[in-house]
Amino acid sequence: MTYKSLYRTYRPNSFETVVGQRHIIQTLQNAIKQKKMSHAYLFCGPRGTGKTTVAKLLAKSVNCLNVDQAPCNQCEHCLTIQNGTHPDVIEIDAASNNGVDEIRDLIEKVKYAPLQGKYKVYIVDEVHMLSQGAFNALLKTLEEPPAHVIFILATTEPHKVLPTIISRCQRYDFVRVNRFDIQMRIEEVLKAEKIEYEEEAVRLISQLADGGVRDALSILEQCIAYSGHKLNAQHVNDIYGIATTQDKLKLLNAVIDNNVTMLMQEIDYVTGKNIDIRRLTNDLMELLKESVVYSFTRDKNLLSKLTEDEVKSLNRISAQVGLKMIEDLMETLEKYRSASNLLSYFEIGLLKLISHRVNGVEETKIKLVEEGETKPVIQEVFEQEEQPVLVETEGVEEKPTPKPKESKKKKVQIVQNSDLSLDFLVQLFVSGDKAKRLEVERSWTSVQNYQSDLKYGKIANLLMDIRLVALNEGFMVLSHSEDYVVNELNMEDNQTLIEEFTERVFGLRMRAYAILFSKTDEAMQHFVQLRNENRLPEPIKLEKQALKTEKEVDLVEKNLFDLFGQENVEIH
Ligand SMILES: [Zn+2]
Repeated sequence: MTYKSLYRTYRPNSFETVVGQRHIIQTLQNAIKQKKMSHAYLFCGPRGTGKTTVAKLLAKSVNCLNVDQAPCNQCEHCLTIQNGTHPDVIEIDAASNNGVDEIRDLIEKVKYAPLQGKYKVYIVDEVHMLSQGAFNALLKTLEEPPAHVIFILATTEPHKVLPTIISRCQRYDFVRVNRFDIQMRIEEVLKAEKIEYEEEAVRLISQLADGGVRDALSILEQCIAYSGHKLNAQHVNDIYGIATTQDKLKLLNAVIDNNVTMLMQEIDYVTGKNIDIRRLTNDLMELLKESVVYSFTRDKNLLSKLTEDEVKSLNRISAQVGLKMIEDLMETLEKYRSASNLLSYFEIGLLKLISHRVNGVEETKIKLVEEGETKPVIQEVFEQEEQPVLVETEGVEEKPTPKPKESKKKKVQIVQNSDLSLDFLVQLFVSGDKAKRLEVERSWTSVQNYQSDLKYGKIANLLMDIRLVALNEGFMVLSHSEDYVVNELNMEDNQTLIEEFTERVFGLRMRAYAILFSKTDEAMQHFVQLRNENRLPEPIKLEKQALKTEKEVDLVEKNLFDLFGQENVEIH
C-alpha cells in the first residue's frame, strides 16, 4: 500500500467538513441545489486554504448520481473523482505542467461532450502560470462556453490573471483559516491517528501554519514522524525552532533601550534555535503593531499576542516611533529577497532600528513615563514671553518629576554625538524671544528663494526643513533629524555665512546651534526639570557688545568649551 500524506488522507469529502471559508461554501451549496452553476469560477487565496479541495467537491457535486446528497462519496462518479480517474474531471497544474501544447489541446477539446458525467470540469491550479497560448485558448472558450463545461480556476496570485479572464468568472476569495479552526482540525486528525499530544504543541503548529490547513497538516506530519506516539511542544520546537514571545520581547526591548550588547546576545540566542528569520521579522512587526494599537486605544481587549504588562514594556516608545520601526522592519523583510545571508540582514535591520532611535526619529515631545502616558510639551514652555519667565503650560506635570539622577546621565550618554551641553541649551532656551521666533518662522519659506543662490544656496538648503526651537538676536537653536545637517550647521566655518544670510532674510544676525530631534527632547526634559526645581539659569545677553562683564566672559568661555571641548579652545 502506498503512503498517503495526512493532508490527502484527511482531505474533506463533504462541504461540511471543510475548515473555514463558510461564506464560500454556503453560496456554492445554494447554487448546486438550485442548479444555477456558472461556467467559470475563480478561486483566489493563499496556499493551503482549501481552493482545490472545494473545487473537487464542486466537481463531485455536479456529477453525483445521488442528487439530493451530492456529493454522496458512494456513487461511481464520486469515487472516481475522489481517486482522480474520472475522465470528465480534468486537473491541470499550470505551475508544474510544462506541456504547453498539451494544456492548450485539453482546453480546446472542451467542445466534446462529457464521456460519463453530466459536466466536464476543468480544474486549473495556479492559473496565472498558464502559457500565453493556453491562456488564449482558455479565453476563447470562456467567451462562448459550451453548456456541459465548468472551469474552476485557482490562483494564489489573482493580480497576475488577465482581467478579461477574471471578468468572465465568478470570483471567490479564500481567506486564511483562523488559528482556532486549524487547532480543532489538528486535534481531530491526532485523535483519528490515535496519537497523544500536548495542547501547546497543537497551538504551536497552528501558529506555524499561518492560516493554511494544508501547511498545518504537513507540519503535523513531520512532527509526528519525529516524535512517534506522543507529540509535545518540545518536538515542534526542535524541528521548527520557534522564538517564544519572551524571546521576541527581549529583542525589541534591547532595541528600545539602545542596548547593542544585549541585542547581539539576544540575536545570538534566538537564531541559535534554528528559527525562520523571515517569520521572526514578521512576528516582531506584529508585536510592534499590537503595541501601536494599544498606545492609541489603551484597550486590552484588542491584545491577542501580548499581555498588558508586556505591551506596556513596548509602550515606552511613542506610536510614531513604533510605526517607524515597523516600516524599517518591512524594508528589511523586502531586502531578504535578494539576500544570501538572512541573519546578517536581520542583525543590520535591528541595529538600524537602534541608530534611528538614537539619532532622533523621535518627535519633539517629552514622554512622561508614569502610567505610560505621552503628553506633548508645547514649545513655548522654555521661552520668555514678556514677564514672568515661567509660562503657564498645559500637559506638563506640575510636580517636580522624581527622576533619578542616573537616568539623566544615561540619556546624555546616548546623545554624546552632539557636543552642545544640555545646560547650555537650556540657557539658550531661556534667552529665546518667542515673538521674534514666531516672526522668523512666518517668513521661513523665503529661505527657499535662495536654494540656487551661488553664495547662500548651500546654507539655504541646510536650513530648508529644520525646526526652529528658539532664537533671539545673535543665535538660533535649530533641530533636525539628520546628523549631517546638524553637523554642517554647527561648523564654525559656516557661521559667518549663516549670520549674513539670516540678517539678509530676517533682519537678524544669528549664529546657528543645531541639534538632533532626540537631543531637543533631552534638552526640553532638562528644562522642565530645572524649571520645576526653580533652578532655571539667567538668560544670556548675546546681543551687541556681549563680552562685557567678567561673568559674561566666563559664560562665553564656557560655551566655547561646551562647543569645542576645553582642550581645543585657547582664550586670548
Ligand atoms: Zn455521488
